[in-house]
Amino acid sequence: MNILFMGPPGAGKGTQAEKILEKLGIPHIATGDMFRSAMANGTPLGLKAKEYMESGALVPDDVTIGIVGDRLAEADCQPGFLLDGFPRTVPQADALKDILAKSDRQVDAVINIEMQTDILMKRLSGRRICKQCGASFHKLFVPPQQAGVCDHCGGELYTRKDDSRETAQKRLDVHAEQTQPLIDYYQQQGLLKNIQGDQPVEKVLEDILAALG
Ligand code: AMP
Repeated sequence: MNILFMGPPGAGKGTQAEKILEKLGIPHIATGDMFRSAMANGTPLGLKAKEYMESGALVPDDVTIGIVGDRLAEADCQPGFLLDGFPRTVPQADALKDILAKSDRQVDAVINIEMQTDILMKRLSGRRICKQCGASFHKLFVPPQQAGVCDHCGGELYTRKDDSRETAQKRLDVHAEQTQPLIDYYQQQGLLKNIQGDQPVEKVLEDILAALG
């Protein structure tokens, strides 16, 4: 099954994607994670993405479409995949359609996790990520057993630079302007499944699995 995860920053896409991955065994492809890893490794892609990411803007479509196209061509994506954080613009969605059509594939379902803006700001500003394994925690809502330490691998937790208040607000604005039109795009194609994100993690997962059938 080829699944897309949409929803504003902080809605819990990454957390839910990891859980779906355990259930369905398909690769989880998160463009934000790909850019962060490229930045951490100082690759040319990382250098290109840095300035955009740190200001809360979107990385240009041609760069983003290129890395997703390469990743979807890999063998492990042929039985299915879960794309998280892509597409974020209508041109990206059109490009995705073309990339998949070349190998007789298509998007099967679009999960849209909805959440109110005031809750998103609280979630983004308290978010802590493991430097080692990428697991996500929250200072108040999902605290690690030991402050600053990952429950899964013992790695150090940090605050993403783009989760600062000002940059988080910019990311929410960018989402409202550039990504919201995609909701109509996929609704018109009958693929959109709206999920209420402001519920316990396990309930959100249950709703997503029910929507996927
Ligand atoms: P995320 O981890 O999904 O919140 O993404 C973090 C940042 O990576 C975004 O604020 C963008 O700067 C960049 N990014 C991730 N996915 C995309 C995309 N599909 N198009 C453009 N930029 C992206």
